[in-house]
Amino acid sequence: MFKGHGRSVFSGVAIGPVYAFERVSAPARHVPVLDEATELSRFHTAKETAASQLRALYEKTRREIGEDEAMIIDVQMMMLDDGDYNDAVEEGIRGGSGADAAVAAAGRQFSEFFASLDDPYMKARAADVRDVSQRLSDILCGREGVPALTEPMVLVADDLTPSETVALDKNNILAFVTRQGSANSHTAILARIMNIPSLVQADVPSGEKLHGRMIAVDGFTGEYFLDPDEATVARLREKRRADTEQRRALDAVRGLPSVTKSGRQVRLYANIGGPEDVPAVLFNDAEGVGLFRSEFLYLGRDDYPSEDEQFEAYRKAAEQMGGKPVIIRTLDIGADKKADYFGLAREENPALGFRAIRICLERPELFKTQLRAIYRASAYGKVAVMFPMIISADETKRALALAAEARAELAARGIVVDEIERGVMIETPAAVMVSAELAKLVDFFSVGTNDLTQYTLAIDRQNEQLDKFYDPHHPAVLEMLRVIAQNAHAAGIWAGICGELAADAELTDTFLKMGYDELSVSPPFILELRKRIRDSAV
Ligand code: PEP
Ligand code: MG
Repeated sequence: MFKGHGRSVFSGVAIGPVYAFERVSAPARHVPVLDEATELSRFHTAKETAASQLRALYEKTRREIGEDEAMIIDVQMMMLDDGDYNDAVEEGIRGGSGADAAVAAAGRQFSEFFASLDDPYMKARAADVRDVSQRLSDILCGREGVPALTEPMVLVADDLTPSETVALDKNNILAFVTRQGSANSHTAILARIMNIPSLVQADVPSGEKLHGRMIAVDGFTGEYFLDPDEATVARLREKRRADTEQRRALDAVRGLPSVTKSGRQVRLYANIGGPEDVPAVLFNDAEGVGLFRSEFLYLGRDDYPSEDEQFEAYRKAAEQMGGKPVIIRTLDIGADKKADYFGLAREENPALGFRAIRICLERPELFKTQLRAIYRASAYGKVAVMFPMIISADETKRALALAAEARAELAARGIVVDEIERGVMIETPAAVMVSAELAKLVDFFSVGTNDLTQYTLAIDRQNEQLDKFYDPHHPAVLEMLRVIAQNAHAAGIWAGICGELAADAELTDTFLKMGYDELSVSPPFILELRKRIRDSAV
């Protein structure tokens, strides 16, 4: 048995086999070109593997997202069987290329051909050919894409990007253990939303064969045990049982109001990354969605999501929430959340760079596409919108003006929707300082304490070496929180907190005394926080 440590970002106990994940961008294994017959047979075997991966992905997409979206995978399956495409690969192999080089060449040739066509449907097929060819090439070169887990396993990796994390099959992940990663990163936040025990900065030996070995992860202490002995397994199983029991005890506050002993009521909402998180929101009995991180819809893909695609995602969340509020935060791309197709330049200081509302105001068409989707979805539930990374009244006014334009464009298309609540995130010191002015422009404030702490203390939330300095209890941060609530209430609007600090039980009384009206946290924290509020004397 090997005992190691990491930093826990979500508690819980998991015991199971390791899935050792290596990044797609890792250099491909050098594969020597063999004789023609062997290369042809490698290609055919890779095709079979690709077909079975695509069939599984089709089912997952159909089940978790919808029939229409699953058609994207269906098209890729057809492409894999396309006669011309297969002939081109086989011809390449007969001409002396290795199977992977032949696939790459056919992929390029066909995607260029499709891209040159005028018909928009055919043009869009270029991306499908690229996807299928990439999949075949990954299989042939022994590269792993995002792991397609077929049984429950503990994912061990150097690090995971937010887009890799969202693409994983949550049902088959027992725990995350990463060698790098910060406790405040979006990947850590996603792990909390998914309710999955997670360690970052773990001292897992690299270069050793880990795949398939048993591991036990203790998300309470940050310890993990490779090849655990029987006594350790028994001890951790007991810990897991006690944890499950404690979680069951929280069921007692399910359905009860989030109200203190003296009668002060707070709205207890949940943070989500997409409609697939709504079942967890409902299961944990949240009273609404306080933060829908819409940028996750833009990650892990090759092109911008269309208005219709976004509309479907927002509508699904609004409908499933059955009239409870859903606050959609507009695109907060940039910093650690990157998508190549945005074509953003490399930056020295991405957290201080071109991100979020800055991109949206510079690219009004991109922004209005999202705003139209949000307004359309508002007809199916109680939807609100909020803008991230605001630093000035001018930015807020421009964002609101674009929202009005988006609504007018819908009206011109015959889609008339009521106005919705519009708010701003307060997550920069500048926004705090002008919050009295901002409060006159919007319907609510939602404090992003993750970024507010980062920008106030000048500490990069992504830098794991700085975790020990990252102190959201710093008096400067708490004073800002006080000022924000005060300025909101002076202008007659409400204020909430949607950063991770909202779930901090040590500060619940402080937030209540400051007068916060809403706290929005990862779904697994809802019931614990409700119990904390109901036990409070404030
Ligand atoms: C925050 O900054 O606190 C916040 C809620 O937004 P994100 O974590 O997505 O940056
Ligand atoms: Mg933020």
